[in-house]
Amino acid sequence: MSNILILGGTTEASALAAALAERHAPAVLSYAGRTDRPRAQPVPVRVGGFGGVAGLVRHLRDERVTHLVDATHPFAATMSEHAVAAAREAGVEHIMLTRPSWVAAEGDRWTHVPDIAGAVATLNGSARNVMLALGRMHVDAFAVQPQHHYLLRFVDMPVVAPGLPRHSLVVDRGPFTSDGDIRLMRDHGIDIIISKNAGGSGAQAKLIAARSLGLPVVMIDRPPCPAAQVTHEVSGVLEWLGHAAERGV
Ligand code: NAP
Repeated sequence: MSNILILGGTTEASALAAALAERHAPAVLSYAGRTDRPRAQPVPVRVGGFGGVAGLVRHLRDERVTHLVDATHPFAATMSEHAVAAAREAGVEHIMLTRPSWVAAEGDRWTHVPDIAGAVATLNGSARNVMLALGRMHVDAFAVQPQHHYLLRFVDMPVVAPGLPRHSLVVDRGPFTSDGDIRLMRDHGIDIIISKNAGGSGAQAKLIAARSLGLPVVMIDRPPCPAAQVTHEVSGVLEWLGHAAERGV
């Protein structure tokens, strides 16, 4: 009998939880606890860090987890590394469910940078209206470029105001549409967009909007992904669970 732990915080994790609930497969969804109002889920939810690799190993053993599905965001690199290491140590099956990266299309004006620091460095120079489509975690890194006016879009209203002298804040959890994002960019006179290469359709609206408006995008490439079995589809995880069951795991 399988006992599944999903590492979540993404649309894919919620879709997998729904698919497993439909099949009455025993699964728990784990959140880091970064958002105030996580979506209601059809499976039990646990919240908070495990306490590093050792804590996750303990959790996997205590809860008799047989299958660990890492459906975290592609930029949640620490959790993904911990998941691979802990699964190996605890003898638990492991798979990553992740969205494919976005790829530039005809008309896109992307500059690739390897990380947040690289994105910050591209903003040297005169004042512009910058859309920072990064979530709230890395916004303060842009305080070293205080000449710009930043448009921020967060899932929740932050408790502490962002540390940027000139900014506008939109609270919205999406999914977003390209028409809505075109309007937003026009309303705020956006000159440039800073984006992580998160992948996925809801968050892609801003890139389609940028293409339509001919705006440049600074694309932060993904951190390296640990060596692991990867699928891009919920059906891939279901298949993997089926195969694993056939092998008697
Ligand atoms: P991270 O840097 O890889 O992880 C930092 C620590 O947070 C981990 O070591 C772990 O703590 C805890 N953690 C992360 N994901 C967890 C989960 N699903 N369940 C329990 N603990 C978790 O991750 P992050 O970039 O801070 O992302 C945190 C969460 O937000 C993830 O669930 C991710 O899917 C979601 N998210 C991230 C981004 C992004 O751009 N990074 C965007 C959207 C959503 P311990 O070491 O104590 O176990």
